[in-house]
Order: sequence, then structure tokens, then C-alpha cells
Amino acid sequence: MKKITRRTYICLILSLLLLIGTVTFIHRFFANGSSWASFSSNSHIYTDGQISAGSIYDIRGTRLASYDDGWHYSDDRDIRLGTIHAVGDPGGHIGTGALSAFASKLTGYNIITGTGVGTTSGRDLYLTIDADLCGTARDALGDYDGLVGVYDYTTGRILCMVSSPAPDPYNQEEEAAEGSYINKFFSSTFIPGSTFKVVTATASLENLSGIWDRSFTCSGSVDIGGYKVTCGRAHGTLNISSALNESCNVTFGQLAVELGVNTMEKYVEKAGLTTRYDVNGIHTAASTFDFTADGLEGLAWSGIGQGKDLVNPCAMMVYMGAIANGGQAASPQILESVVMKNGLQTEGYSVKNTGTLIEPETAEALTAIMRDDVLDNYGQDNFPGLEICAKSGTAQVSSDAASNGWFVGFLNDEEHPLAFVAMVEGGGYGARSAGKVINTVLQAAIDGGY
Ligand SMILES: [Zn+2]
Repeated sequence: MKKITRRTYICLILSLLLLIGTVTFIHRFFANGSSWASFSSNSHIYTDGQISAGSIYDIRGTRLASYDDGWHYSDDRDIRLGTIHAVGDPGGHIGTGALSAFASKLTGYNIITGTGVGTTSGRDLYLTIDADLCGTARDALGDYDGLVGVYDYTTGRILCMVSSPAPDPYNQEEEAAEGSYINKFFSSTFIPGSTFKVVTATASLENLSGIWDRSFTCSGSVDIGGYKVTCGRAHGTLNISSALNESCNVTFGQLAVELGVNTMEKYVEKAGLTTRYDVNGIHTAASTFDFTADGLEGLAWSGIGQGKDLVNPCAMMVYMGAIANGGQAASPQILESVVMKNGLQTEGYSVKNTGTLIEPETAEALTAIMRDDVLDNYGQDNFPGLEICAKSGTAQVSSDAASNGWFVGFLNDEEHPLAFVAMVEGGGYGARSAGKVINTVLQAAIDGGY
């Protein structure tokens, strides 16, 4: 009897272990199955380490890349290079590219049928980008390195995403330029220059009572914490609105010090700049700041967009979208749909929201100021027909290199709800360099019906 009891217990324990094992496996199968199947040594869907199934299209159905005994890209060089960071390279070096980021969607993996390759030969992936618009942006950058992003702030669709330099999959003998696999728009951070003054202005408008009635005096420089903060010229007497339009360092340096470290930290977070956006599973780089690094002088320069400020371009673009859209914007997305070879759609598009990045009244006030900035400084003639609101920046990266030119903003136009960011490396004055690129791209976007 004693023996039987012992055996019963052993059996019970063994069954229990089997049950635990089965449950664990099933859980892991559902959680990780797609990454197991798209593992690069799976010879069903990989040939010589390259994914070998599926097609990638833009939002209009223009083919960007497809597999047919090797990956074939657009024959148009500007489109090929202008979309490569969204499409990806066959070697999988570009982490933000569909070939890497959406590998399991492309191969058509599912729990029941596995990868399905052979019977369905992959799936059709539709991205939100417009090939012609990306090609136009790539062409507008010319020989400069830099980036361009344009998205619809009401739906979140990224229409244009270009990062330069870019590797050419049709010219692989030539060594790819350094850093060309990096998608600067999603994965990098840069010194924002004066574009960041919009954030300092937001914090000032929401925290300093009577800010609209105050006047500021700029004599060309001011002593902060024993160091000089300087402007290109003496701006004279200003209010908060004209200080932003004149991009007055003296005023914004002082405002940052008056706001203090905690408030500045709170506002870069609230603006979504430190957020890592989840773009269909691709995570953007978080902007970083250190308002305490170099005392009051460092805090002042941080409020001006220099100092230790490093901003992610995608997050800056979304922030612009939130200003345009009354305080909240649609979260950025790049995957439009996934369609099986039999025509059935397995994934579609649904709009997501960022939450409040800026208070509605502040957004309205900034819209007016940024519109005046175009009318008073950048010149409406440079943006014919566009109801454009913007802030330029000219970011010093080192004492001997030419500055990076920035242009960020949005169209205050219900029919064309577009927000944008452009940065031209070594381009100098932002409104001229990046501003020109943005005008070219926005004109093409509106001609294209966006
Ligand atoms: Zn000034």
C-alpha cells in the first residue's frame, strides 16, 4: 500500500511537470513564434541570409521593392535612396526598414500555417510614405546630408521620411557612406538650435504670469552666471512674441533661468520630446537634455537650443503637429496595411492619439506667433500659397564646422494638415537651407493631393 501511494505521488508530480512544460511552450509559441519563424537561418524564407519573400509598396501602390530571385527596388535613384530607410536593405543593416522591422508580416507568418511561403510567396506590405514625395525630398537635399519628415497630424501617416546619406542597394560594390544605414529621422538626436525656443516659449506662456505684458531688452548680450550669452545683434525692446520671431538668445536664455531646471525638464517631457514613439513597433530615439550640467550658463544655453540639448527629429515633428492640432496630434505611423496574395487584408490602419502635448490656448498663441514669423522674417514669397507656420534654427555643432540648418512647423490648413521637420547638415541659416527644402516638398505634397 505504501509503495502504491509513493508511485501515485511520483505520477502526479510527473504529470504536473508535463502540464507546466506544455503551458510554458504554448505561451512562448504564441509570444515568440513570429520571431522564431523569421529567424535568419530559416531557409524557407531566407536565401543567403536575405529575406526572400514579399513585396513593399507606397501608399499609392507604387512598388518600392519586391522579391523575385533577389530584391528589386525602384529604378528611380532618388526614390530608391529616398525610401531605402523605410524599405530596408536586403542585408538587414537598416533596422528601421520594413525588411527588418516587418519581416514576419512580410513573410506572412501565422500561428496555424507557419510562414506559408511556397504557397503564398510572401505578402504585400503597404507603407504610408509616398514614393514621389520621398524622391522629391531626396532631390531637394542635393549633395547635403540631413533629413526630411512630413506627416499628417490628423491621421499620423508619415508621408515623407528621408535620411541622407543613404546606401544604394543597386551599387553595393561602392562602400556605403559612413552612417548611411542609420535612419536619422527615427534613430538619431541632434542639437536643435533655435527651433527649441518654441518649447521654452511654451513653458514661459504656461508658467510666467503676466508674460504677455512683459517687455524684454536685448543689448546684444547679457551676463548669466558669470558668462556672456550673446545675440547676433542688439534686438532692442521685445515682447514674448517678437522675442521668438527675432529668435533672441538674450531673452530666451533669461527665460530658461527664470523657469528653472524642474520646469524645463517637465516641459521637454510634456512636449513628447523625451518620448520614444512606437511607430508600428519601431521605437524612435528619445531626445536627451541636461539642464543642470553647466550651472546657470548651461541652463540658459539649453533654453536657446544649444547646450546639452539633443532632439529626435520625429518627436519634434509630432510636437509641431500638436501645436497645429490644438494641443494633441495623431501618433506617427508608417504601416498602412498588409495584404495576403489572395487579396485578403490582414492588417489595416487605425489612428492613435498622442495625448496632450501642449495646452490648447498655448497652441493657439504659438500658431499665431509662428505664422507671424513666416510673414515677418522668412518671407511668404518663399512659400507661395502655403498657410505655413514655422520656426527656423541654425545649430552650432562645433566651432569650425558650418552650422546645421533647421526648419520645423506645420500648415495651419484643414485641407492640408501637414507638420514637418527638415535639417540640412552644414546648410547654415535654417530658413534658407532647410526652409527651401520644405517648400519644395510641401508644394509637391499639395500637388499630390495631401
Ligand atoms: Zn537678442
